[in-house]
Amino acid sequence: MNTVWADRSGVHDDLTTVEDLTTWLTGDSATDVATTTAADLAAFRTLRQALRDLAATLTEDTRAIAADRDRDRAVEAVNAAVRQAVVWPQLDVEDGELRRRTTADAPPATRALAATAAEAVDLFTGPDRVLLRACYAPGCVLYFVKDHPRREWCSPACGNRVRAARHYRRSRTDG
Ligand SMILES: [Zn+2]
Repeated sequence: MNTVWADRSGVHDDLTTVEDLTTWLTGDSATDVATTTAADLAAFRTLRQALRDLAATLTEDTRAIAADRDRDRAVEAVNAAVRQAVVWPQLDVEDGELRRRTTADAPPATRALAATAAEAVDLFTGPDRVLLRACYAPGCVLYFVKDHPRREWCSPACGNRVRAARHYRRSRTDG
């Protein structure tokens, strides 16, 4: 969800090219580049929008970026993604011993898509769902899990920006 983010210069998108997706999936662009496709990118972008829509619904997000959410479309998109990679155990014989091997009929990017969607199902229905928050620091577009009772912002940087803005408003009023 947070591959869309903002700073002083505006909103940024970390998943705009196939290379971006490869980097996001593997942590570096050297691995598996050939197996990640434009279709994977489109699928991940669709899933991301669905997850953001669901997070917006759960947090009753009032930020402009969350205005066009569609819960039913999002539910459909998550379910479609989860179904993409069915994994099953298989038996192998190795040095005369039976071994367990996991097989999936999908390429790595599709398996990652399905795994991400499955994690989202757990997040949006599990105990953390009531801790999900939209960050209301000026300009921020992120969601976070409020893992500490006093946590109000997605990051220390957002907290600092909010404090600086308050200080600026106060000093302007005083002056
Ligand atoms: Zn933030």
